[in-house]
Amino acid sequence: MSKNWKPATRLVHSGVQRSEFGETSEAMYLTQGFVYDSAEAAEARFAGDEPGYIYSRYANPTVTMFEQRMCALEGAEAALATSSGMGAVTAALMCQVKAGDHVVAARALFGSCRYVVEKLMPQLGVESTLVDGTDLAAWKAAIRPNTRVLFLESPTNPTLELVDIAAVANLASETGATLVVDNVFATPIYQQPLELGAHVVVYSATKHIDGQGRCLGGIVLSSQEWIKEKMFDFFRHTGPSLSPFNAWVLLKGLETLPLRVAQQTTSAVRIADHLASGKLVNRVLYPGREDHPQAELARRQMKAGSTLIAFELSGGKERAFAFENALQLIRISNNLGDSKSLITHPATTTHKNLSDEDRDALGISAGMVRLSIGLEDVEDLLADVDQALEIASRL
Ligand SMILES: *Cc1c(COP(=O)(O)O)cnc(C)c1O
Repeated sequence: MSKNWKPATRLVHSGVQRSEFGETSEAMYLTQGFVYDSAEAAEARFAGDEPGYIYSRYANPTVTMFEQRMCALEGAEAALATSSGMGAVTAALMCQVKAGDHVVAARALFGSCRYVVEKLMPQLGVESTLVDGTDLAAWKAAIRPNTRVLFLESPTNPTLELVDIAAVANLASETGATLVVDNVFATPIYQQPLELGAHVVVYSATKHIDGQGRCLGGIVLSSQEWIKEKMFDFFRHTGPSLSPFNAWVLLKGLETLPLRVAQQTTSAVRIADHLASGKLVNRVLYPGREDHPQAELARRQMKAGSTLIAFELSGGKERAFAFENALQLIRISNNLGDSKSLITHPATTTHKNLSDEDRDALGISAGMVRLSIGLEDVEDLLADVDQALEIASRL
């Protein structure tokens, strides 16, 4: 495979391991285990003296193809694919800490990531501090001599705030901590955390990588050394492995990822502009717009604003609900990155477990909705938004 291939080419061809049949499309190896030609061959494989597969909890050819295709896209040396995005986050964080260590994370995290950092880690004797991710001084102040891991996502869910990945990566390197970035919202097409200095990048492949609402998956990417030294034993003995069937679905998803994400982003730009110019909308948060509070940082670390828009309707929860209920094409769902456009009211769904103060601190108001733009014709989406705004305005 050529190192000079552009991302779209890599996403179609990288990682292919053809069987003796020379199939065009990647084969689905639905097998738990593997057989050996002799007892000596089994011994050599277990000793690591001979390459080859042992058991699909450790590795499987279809899963390897997905991992290698993701490495080619991300510019990573190695990866381990997991059964869900949370499997990826939990493994990436838990594999590198022990009781007595300390972790610093940005406060604006996907709900389940907050559970891992705020509840699970302290239960196991790993202290954690949550900071305002946009405030570099807060990161600095929170770091202690025993801080092992820094963790963030950018843009954040659901308010689409950005964290300066290069600046936090610098802090991590200065203090010897490992920076883990959850890159779901930006997608691997528009943001490359490893290039910005992050040590580990994680994805929920459930989102744009599948992108068609079919299966769960996740992946952790890093250097060969980190994957081997820190994660591999944890991964193979605790078992968050991806099924070969789901790996195959995700592999095929990668082939169309750049086309889908580009189309969804083109539509998102138009819809964000349209919302901002209309009535009932107090503010629109979209990293691709000039009025985003961190537009300069967005230009520096993202190639485009991506596929999600957050906006706040005047009239609080009642207006937000009326708007959602009036939509005819855009469906109410907490998923994102899908070919179907989806809307969610974070305050009562994905972020309902936060206290009122925590929600306020994150800027998740009662009138805020998060819109994930799909692959429908943008004119149909705009018409749906307009008719729903009209109905919601009669409240
Ligand atoms: C969805 C999501 C996750 C969790 O992924 P699952 O595949 O649902 O387990 C983690 N982080 C972010 C930012 C997400 O959007």
